[in-house]
Amino acid sequence: MISYKKDFFSTLAQTSPEPILLQITKARGIILTDYLGNEYYDLISGIAVSNLGHGNKAITNAIRKQAGLFTHLMVYGEYIQAPQTLFAKKITGLLPHTLNAIYFVNSGSEAAEGALKLVKRFTGRTEIISFKNGYHGSTHGSLSIMGDETLKSPYRPLLPDVRILELNNMSALNNITARTAGVIIEPTQGEAGVITPRSDFLAAMRKKCTAKGALLIFDEIQTGMGRTGKMFAFERTGTVPDILLLGKALGGGLPLGAFITDRKIMACLSADPPLGHITTFGGHPLSCSAGLAALNELLRLKLIKKVSNKEKLFRSLLKHKKIVEIRGAGLMLAIQFENEQFCKNVIRKCLQNGIICDWFLFSPSAVRLAPPLIIKDSEIRRACAKILLSIEQAQNEYLETRN
Ligand code: PLP
Repeated sequence: MISYKKDFFSTLAQTSPEPILLQITKARGIILTDYLGNEYYDLISGIAVSNLGHGNKAITNAIRKQAGLFTHLMVYGEYIQAPQTLFAKKITGLLPHTLNAIYFVNSGSEAAEGALKLVKRFTGRTEIISFKNGYHGSTHGSLSIMGDETLKSPYRPLLPDVRILELNNMSALNNITARTAGVIIEPTQGEAGVITPRSDFLAAMRKKCTAKGALLIFDEIQTGMGRTGKMFAFERTGTVPDILLLGKALGGGLPLGAFITDRKIMACLSADPPLGHITTFGGHPLSCSAGLAALNELLRLKLIKKVSNKEKLFRSLLKHKKIVEIRGAGLMLAIQFENEQFCKNVIRKCLQNGIICDWFLFSPSAVRLAPPLIIKDSEIRRACAKILLSIEQAQNEYLETRN
């Protein structure tokens, strides 16, 4: 029963203005237990990471087994490491034939960095196009293509030649020209508050990229690995990108990212000069073993097929006059409220009621739900009852402060 709150504040860098401050000692299924024994439903999966929930036996066994064989051996791409090759084979087997070469990295941001370098090298161009409220990471390159000024402007100068377009604006696509190296988009925007571009917009973008020789990058770091009800969200859209980015749930709870493209495109990182991207820990054997086990579990349990019904159940249960709308793509949901303060109060009340939900970087008046895909219907019912109770409590508190 030791609290590490004092050490947390005195020894760790603090960047969050309001850290959640849960001190978790155990995590199983969708339940997190804190050091005092309080239990919480994890409805955010560490932001779309723990798709198989916590403590999945197949994943932990795979990690244990691999740890007993070897952990880090050598920087990426020099040794043949079975966990990497087996995982790459499994993933490419699930993708269209044009997405056949995987470069494993450490994180989503690094996957975005790799993709930005790749499109510049392949096309010999520099312009990158991204979208308003898009989020692709926090490193300099990924920050440069962020579709929001607040978090990025203090760090300028960033990458030059970046253009941010409006989502779903067909005429904006005329900005994709023979100068454009790459266009990057999330097939469902996460931090924007679960906003899905129209399929005809994505199809037109695909056409334009092909016509102008620009590469189309889908950032599926948040949407990938079954979250939206398909293994990859691009399958919902009918549009296949030239480059696919994965991260978050990819590593089964361990750090892992990837950029994936056609071998012919990836080849430009191998010559003149070679070593187009270098990473020490990218594709770590523990992460690849965990990722492969997680993917096998996802398939074995047929979880993806059940996502749509679970989304429907959430939507049918979450009815309240304070809810403006619910946006969703499978188990990636945004509950829209009228304003930021009310939304924050709901999140605070939820936590007091044993429910962990969260906000979005660029949609502060919406509550984020991204539960593990293993969540049971009975757990959804219990969770929604507590969310509705929290909304009531937030409303009562607001009325009391007004009186
Ligand atoms: N791209 C998207 C769509 C994301 O949601 C995130 C993280 O939230 C990233 C990229 C960055 O990933 P990471 O935090 O692993 O660097």
